[in-house]
Amino acid sequence: MKVWIEQEFCTGDALCEDLCPGVFEMGDDALAHVKGEDGTNGGKPGTAVPEVLEDGVLDAQAQCAGECIYVER
Ligand code: SF4
Repeated sequence: MKVWIEQEFCTGDALCEDLCPGVFEMGDDALAHVKGEDGTNGGKPGTAVPEVLEDGVLDAQAQCAGECIYVER
């Protein structure tokens, strides 16, 4: 699974970081980032998610107020 955030729609509520801190973190810009992203955050190709964290990513995606967490398998 790969994940990315369309940050222009991020509300900055940090819910994703609370639900899945292994993948998401809040940046100095008060927007959520995918940890380890390589500058492609906010669009494809996204960042690979360790299998053990996939459920957490899907949970965050389902609850994201901005509906701006995207995954691709
Ligand atoms: S849950 Fe969604 S809206 Fe909230 S901080 Fe994370 S990406 Fe942004």
